[in-house]
Amino acid sequence: MTETTASSGGRPNLPMQGVPQPRRDEVLKLPRVHISSHPVMAHKLTALRDKNTQPPEFYRLVKEIGALLAYEATASLALERSPIETPMGPMVGERLAGGIGVTPVLRAGLGLAEGFREVIPDVQVWHLGLRRDEQTLQAMEYYNQLPHQVDLQVCYAVDPMLATGGSAIDAINVLKRRGIPRLCYVGIIAAPYGLLKLSQTHPDIDIYIGALDESLNDVGYILPGLGDAGDRQFGTY
Ligand code: URA
Repeated sequence: MTETTASSGGRPNLPMQGVPQPRRDEVLKLPRVHISSHPVMAHKLTALRDKNTQPPEFYRLVKEIGALLAYEATASLALERSPIETPMGPMVGERLAGGIGVTPVLRAGLGLAEGFREVIPDVQVWHLGLRRDEQTLQAMEYYNQLPHQVDLQVCYAVDPMLATGGSAIDAINVLKRRGIPRLCYVGIIAAPYGLLKLSQTHPDIDIYIGALDESLNDVGYILPGLGDAGDRQFGTY
């Protein structure tokens, strides 16, 4: 039976019930989608998904996975020549050209952003608060600390779970309005439904994920997934 609540005004609160979802194999080859095949990623993901993994360990794993994803997602960044002196003499080295931003979607994206900072300590962190309405699954913006002056070569929107795609699409919309030349989405686990939605809505961005799962359940959680990534990082069950 479809459940309703008073707060939903009689709308069903099983927002994905009966919604057609693409199969995993139908979205595996989408353009600009990068699914990690690194064995260390697979190893850490298994520990992360395990229901017995407690919040301190869970948060540490999210950070480590964030660092691995940062490494993969920054592989094609632009470099500029940089003359230096080594103790042995002059050489022309290379440095990253232009600033790099990371936008954690609050609050679940915080651990991933920390992982990015371990790889690139001078990354700019722009916090963005998006909350999803549990009935409609629509994302609502409640906090925005994006600067007005932007001089970045790329910004990564980071959010661990790409479920229905609503928050990811909204985060990219917000960043696009800032005129950043290149945008990417980085997540830990995606469902085929959200991955397809994000890729179709924003075909001009690169999407980096650690794993592609099977489906969404009736309330929009990823299966097999890992449960609620925010609650599991911060112990708020
Ligand atoms: N958000 C989560 O934290 N987990 C899911 O499975 C889906 C959305």
